[in-house]
Amino acid sequence: MKYIPEPFRIKTVEPIKMTTPADRRKAIEEAGYNTFLLKSDDVYIDLLTDSGTSAMSDAQWAALQMGDEAYAGSKNFYDLEKTIQDIYGYKHIVPTHQGRAAEHILSQYLIKKGDHVPGNMYFTTTRLHQELAGGKFVDVIVGEAHDTTSTHPFKGNVDMAKMQRLVDEVGADKIPYVSYETCVNMAGGQPISIANIRELRKFCDKHDIKIMLDNTRTVENAYFIQTREDGYANKSIKEIVKEICSYTDGCTCSSKKDCLVNIGGFLAMNDEDFFIEAKAQVVIYEGLHTYGGMSGRDMAALAQGIRESVDDDYIKYRVEQTNYLGERLTEAGVPHVIPHGGHAIFLDAKRFLPHIDQDQFPAQVLAAEIYTETGVRAMERGNVSAGRDPETGKNRHPALELVRLTIPRRVYTQSHMDYTAEGIARLYEKRDQIKGLKFIFEPKQLRFFQARFKPLEPVAVPTS
Ligand SMILES: *Cc1c(COP(=O)(O)O)cnc(C)c1O
Repeated sequence: MKYIPEPFRIKTVEPIKMTTPADRRKAIEEAGYNTFLLKSDDVYIDLLTDSGTSAMSDAQWAALQMGDEAYAGSKNFYDLEKTIQDIYGYKHIVPTHQGRAAEHILSQYLIKKGDHVPGNMYFTTTRLHQELAGGKFVDVIVGEAHDTTSTHPFKGNVDMAKMQRLVDEVGADKIPYVSYETCVNMAGGQPISIANIRELRKFCDKHDIKIMLDNTRTVENAYFIQTREDGYANKSIKEIVKEICSYTDGCTCSSKKDCLVNIGGFLAMNDEDFFIEAKAQVVIYEGLHTYGGMSGRDMAALAQGIRESVDDDYIKYRVEQTNYLGERLTEAGVPHVIPHGGHAIFLDAKRFLPHIDQDQFPAQVLAAEIYTETGVRAMERGNVSAGRDPETGKNRHPALELVRLTIPRRVYTQSHMDYTAEGIARLYEKRDQIKGLKFIFEPKQLRFFQARFKPLEPVAVPTS
């Protein structure tokens, strides 16, 4: 097993607190068995999310000093606009404070009540904005995406037969666009292939349906295309990223992921009318169209981050570090989603804890017990995240009941990965002693962020 050495050296360090298992049991109880409610100070290695957790480069920190904080027409906006046009190839851009703000504007503009929005698996905020705009999300991802043991190289792909079926059922005029995500987050960071997006483009042209890209992890996806798809081994990441975007009509992007900054997002499109309307909307919800929800310095760091993100050596190290953690868990026999995704390793809680019913939240309790055992913070991606069906009010019971170990970019080293894998392997050995949970507080929307739980039986997992 190979660890690709970091293509950077460390210039600034941030000390982290070491805690004991007893400290951590107390902390997780206080957090209602929800790792979102832990204090960062009580966490040793934070694999909750790769969102906004990247380490910035010296060039990005320098860019922060170059912020032009003019209310209108900041030079950082024009640099960001040019960078996005250059790297992703879209004509127009509207900055927003995060990806979800771009999703809000996009959904309100394109979706009419009663519309259907097909997508290659849902993402929490994306689907919610589609529903709030009166649309119904329809999952059209390939079946392999729901099988944690399938080794399909492009489990993020859209199943064209499912697209055809939807068009036959509801009619193309009820489908404003396909919500197409690269390195599908909820499927385990699984990529799409160029062949798939080309086929989808042809289909959508025939039926006059748009393709809107969730561009949040396109760079990571490009690495999988470079290493897995015929004809792409000698293309640069930059070329592949541009090719992916070229098949789409626009995008939403959370720049807190691929783009190597701690905050920000944008909406981009080629259509003139959409651009005019998006600018009108952004001033209502975010700020003037030349800053959206960002300061000038945020936009400067973002433009620099986008340029750094498409460096071939960087992205190879980035995706291979994730793969290394996965390989170590494979060695220990810990069940997880394969092939390994780009930004995270997803433990399969149904196979890790087969004795816990899905309505007793196996992924939620697994994340809590990983924290108690190791000080590593992970995130539930299963029943709790999926929420309740708005029509029936019942838990959605997604096929995937996962715990996500998400790797921040350029933050942790090989020894942090080793420590994580060894701790989880230890917990796996005593998995029989882990018991299920029940709600003591359940929010209505995006419940996973603030829900609180308690164990169904007194906790008896000994920590080593
Ligand atoms: C994070 C994320 C979003 C939402 O972006 P925010 O910046 O958190 O608002 C949308 N889609 C995907 C795939 C994401 O990972």
